[in-house]
Amino acid sequence: MDKPDVLYWFRQDLRLTDNPALQEAAARGRVLPVYILDDHHAKEYKMGAASRFWLHHSISALRQQLDDKLSLFSGDPMECIARLCKRYAIKTVVWNRCYEPWRMGRDTKIKASLAQQGIEVQTYNGSLLWEPWQVLKRDQSHYKVFTPFFRKGALMAAPPREPLKQPESLELFQDQTESVSLESLGLLPKHNWDKGLQTHWNIGEKGAWQALDVFLKNGLSNYKKGRDFPAQKHFSQLSPHLHFGEISPNQVWYSTLANRQDSDSDHYCSELAWREFSYSQLYFNPSLPSENLQVKFNRFPWQENQSHLRAWQKGLTGIPMVDAGMRQLWQTGFMHNRLRMIVGSFLVKNLRLHWHHGRDWFWDCLVDADLASNSASWQWIAGCGADAAPYFRVFNPVTQGQKFDPDGAFISRYIPELKNLPVPYLFSPWQAPEEVLQKAGVVLGQTYPKPIVDLKASRQGALDAFASLKANPDG
Ligand SMILES: Cc1cc2nc3c(=O)[nH]c(=O)nc-3n(C[C@H](O)[C@H](O)[C@H](O)COP(=O)(O)OP(=O)(O)OC[C@H]3O[C@@H](n4cnc5c(N)ncnc54)[C@H](O)[C@@H]3O)c2cc1C
Repeated sequence: MDKPDVLYWFRQDLRLTDNPALQEAAARGRVLPVYILDDHHAKEYKMGAASRFWLHHSISALRQQLDDKLSLFSGDPMECIARLCKRYAIKTVVWNRCYEPWRMGRDTKIKASLAQQGIEVQTYNGSLLWEPWQVLKRDQSHYKVFTPFFRKGALMAAPPREPLKQPESLELFQDQTESVSLESLGLLPKHNWDKGLQTHWNIGEKGAWQALDVFLKNGLSNYKKGRDFPAQKHFSQLSPHLHFGEISPNQVWYSTLANRQDSDSDHYCSELAWREFSYSQLYFNPSLPSENLQVKFNRFPWQENQSHLRAWQKGLTGIPMVDAGMRQLWQTGFMHNRLRMIVGSFLVKNLRLHWHHGRDWFWDCLVDADLASNSASWQWIAGCGADAAPYFRVFNPVTQGQKFDPDGAFISRYIPELKNLPVPYLFSPWQAPEEVLQKAGVVLGQTYPKPIVDLKASRQGALDAFASLKANPDG
């Protein structure tokens, strides 16, 4: 019987091109490609519903690329890989590295256990432009501020690897003994809430390249300015494709530079570097997802208010710019970066609810939910992170709307019940005269909520709470 020579473990690298570990596997002979759903080790970082939806479709697309020869498993990867190696007398296992603390701990154990069984493990960098230990200060400590991380560290280090082609020949072997069906992994939601997501996305390696092509053609020019306007086209929506590794950051980086549009290309590359910075922060601070990097925030007087949290989650706060962002998230599994900052600031400052609530909701609803970027960004928004937005910077969702959604196109798309309101009042319907509301068919408190908090008073409440930390710095 034909047997595989090497086991290739797909993880956050669901693609065939620019895949260094797959290149190595292909060079070693016949490949047994596997995906193992590991809910066991993920524990509190078990994928959220939107990520599981994405993963289902991404595996489906990858399986097609592999002529259906992708073997799927669910359970403990250590046991699964050991069994497969034994069954087929495989002596080599290869994978691309992951950087989440729980994955690194697990992989180290797997590697050691396989080595004990005389099995060679080869690992590669397939997800980052620079691995965390490649961007360090002269004294070998890590950067805590983005600009020097990027300018003095990353850009001065060796340039990112040039993208690799798909392996020229890939001889595949499929396990027929215990491989399970994609459906049995149970990744799709039981209720039909994912319909909006299905129509919004083109999932898989091909879809990732389409998204990149569209962005390079229509979005890159004027990116630097336009990226803040959610109704415009100047953002790539590549984040879920990058998270699942359907495209590599190297491919995006070099394609962007090849389509150079002056400072817009450089700015886009610097946004890719924020992703790298998030991974560096996570690598050097494994408790980033749960603990305030600035310990003084452990004493911050957060509030608990379930009805406020619920209103925020459902896009029913009565503040249109916040609600539009939250509804975009619910309907598409994505939220524009400017909106993430606005809704995040509203949650942790105006509502003064703990950033963990925001982290958890995003984790469940975002198709690009990423332990490094989500944790680092919530710490940034809450002001307790490494290179964080100062706590006293409270985004005003009304002026943010006026500035970044000037004709109200974004709000009208996600809050159709307000679409007949004239623009000046779209951002603050509570300020509209009664006859204007009537004409637009808006009844505050009935067709659209009244604001759940007063923006001015709640801003002051946040500043006072922050001041209480400063008044007692060591307490
Ligand atoms: C509260 C909050 C939570 C976030 N959670 C996540 C998350 O779970 N996963 C995630 O990928 N991003 C997260 N971000 C960062 C950012 O909002 C998204 O990466 C970006 O909106 C994705 O859209 P895009 O692909 O169109 O971005 P583009 O503008 O096209 O940028 C290109 C790529 O650069 C990277 N990037 C851009 N901005 C950032 C940033 N601030 N931090 C890290 N990487 C960045 C992304 O990989 C992105 O795909 C979060 C931001 C905030 C404020």
